[in-house]
Parts: sequence; C-alpha cells; structure tokens
Amino acid sequence: MTTSSSSAQLLDGKALSIQVLDELKATVSARIESGKSQPGLATVLVGEDPASHIYVRNKRRACEKVGVASFHHELAAETGQEQLLDLITKLNADDRVHGILVQLPLPKEFDYDENEVLAAIDAKKDADGFHPLNQGALLQGRPAPVPCTPKGVMRLLDLTNLDLSGMHAVVVGRSNIVGKPVALLLLARNMTVTICHSRTKDLATEVRRADVVVAAVGVAELVQGDWIKPGAVVLDVGINRNQEGKLVGDVEFFGACQNAAWITPVPGGVGPMTIGMLLQNTVEAANLYD
Ligand code: NAD
Repeated sequence: MTTSSSSAQLLDGKALSIQVLDELKATVSARIESGKSQPGLATVLVGEDPASHIYVRNKRRACEKVGVASFHHELAAETGQEQLLDLITKLNADDRVHGILVQLPLPKEFDYDENEVLAAIDAKKDADGFHPLNQGALLQGRPAPVPCTPKGVMRLLDLTNLDLSGMHAVVVGRSNIVGKPVALLLLARNMTVTICHSRTKDLATEVRRADVVVAAVGVAELVQGDWIKPGAVVLDVGINRNQEGKLVGDVEFFGACQNAAWITPVPGGVGPMTIGMLLQNTVEAANLYD
C-alpha cells in the first residue's frame, strides 16, 4: 500500500497481482517437479472485438509468465452456437486443459446463447466461475471456482486487514459476473450488504452509509467523491473513458481520496487482479482434479 496525495491509502492491484503471479509460478514449478502435469488454460475468442482480443492476449501472456500452458482458439463471429459447443465438448475431454475461458461478450449480431455456452463448460474446468453450478455453490457458501474480478476485489479488500464482520457494504451494480458474486462474497464475511442498480432511487444516500463501497457499473465517475463516508474503503471495478479520453473508474477518484481511508486506483487497482485470479482458478483446478 502507498499513500496518495490526500488522506486515502492506495490499494495497489498492480503490485499485488505481480505477487500473486510469482506465487503461482512457484506453485506450478513445484507441481511439475513432483511429476504432475503442467496446468493448462484454454482460451476461446469468438469474433473481432478489439477489447476482447487485448484481454485474451494479456491472459495468454500471464500464462506464459507462470508456466501454465495456453491453448488458444479463435473462431469467426459467424461460427455459430453449435460449432462453439462442439469445441467446448472437445476441451472438456482434453486432459491437458484444466481451465476453459470463453471470452465474453459473444458477438451480439449473431444468435449466441451465452448462458448455454457457459453451462456447457465442465464445471470443474470453469476458470471464470460463471457456470450455473459454481454460481449456485457460491450462493450456498460451498467451495467452487469464484468469478475472477470479485475474487480480486476480495484480495484487495483483505489488504486493509479490517474486521469486516457487521460492517455495511454497498455494491453498485448487479451483473452476474461482478455485482452479484461480489455481494455474496461480502455477505460470506458477515457484512451487511446493500446492492444498488440502475433502478435504485437514491444512490447517494445508499453510498453515504457504506463502510465498503464496490462500484461495478460502467459509468465514468458516477459515484461522487463527497458520497464517500470518512474512513470507508472504495473498490472501483469500472473501466471507462471520460470525455477527455482518459481511463477512469466508476468513482470520482480525487474527491473520494479526500474521504476514503483506502481506495483502488483506475488503472492499477482491480483490473490487474482479474488475470491473477483466473490463473489461480486454473492452477487450483489442476491441483484438485489432476
Ligand atoms: P454490466 O453492464 O453487466 O452491469 C452494470 C450494472 O450497473 C447493472 O447491474 C446496472 O443495473 C448498474 N447500473 C447502471 N447504471 C446505473 C446507475 N446509474 N446507478 C446505479 N447502477 C447502475 O457491467 P459489468 O460487466 O458488471 O461491468 C461493470 C464495470 O466493470 C464496467 O466498467 C466494466 O468494464 C468493468 N469490469 C472490469 C473488470 C476488471 O477486470 N476490472 C471486469 C469486469 C468488468
């Protein structure tokens, strides 16, 4: 943790993710030295979305860094659901593959059923933690792969060493990949959790009550700095461009720094943690099932 120009301490996701990858590298080499197989992650990219290409490239680079084998499959946007499901069936049966990631979103202009695709992945190889069985396990508090961004948020929150029990968390956003799972993880730490979304009547009042704020909306600087309760922890998942084209989060960073005790920057906060948690899910799957 480093101190920003104002009172808040930065929760440094870049530094923590480097530490996570270093630890995984050591785990993977110990596994291989003990005669076990190399963990493998299959990435499936459908279509030409430039952001998705960058995300998948970064995930594959991280595989290389930690010694996880990477099996990459690129399909044209018009490939179709059936062929995509055939590929997933093959990857489910491939012993070299311990984690499977289908990069979302699937091309909107073709008729993909994302839920069906995610459910086709073997739940034991579900590196993203989006399979309905694993999401159900999270709901029930049973061990299962946890979605990567929420898992990264919790690792950053743990840097504060706060006793979270009984504290009030406000999660802004209710998506299946960030908002809902992060709310369940906070609940599992005995926090009192409020989930806000696009129909919430008075977001400012809700956020003002929060000891911990998680913003996962996708609207640049929606959460105003003066909504942050003094001493609160702010975890900003959003990745947006503001009107000047600058990368910003869902929280007005400099204003929030005046009130928060801890805050994640954008970039360099939650973002880098997601890839580390993806590789952790893959290595954990290899250790559990192979
Ligand atoms: P999403 O679009 O699926 O969900 C957005 C949520 O925000 C919805 O639940 C919606 O109800 C809520 N919302 C929209 N407008 C609102 C408003 N005015 N007030 C309150 N709530 C509102 O988005 P997502 O996939 O959950 O992603 C959210 C953000 O996090 C995006 O900026 C995305 O780029 C980013 N993200 C970052 C990472 C990472 O690795 N750091 C991973 C996933 C998503």
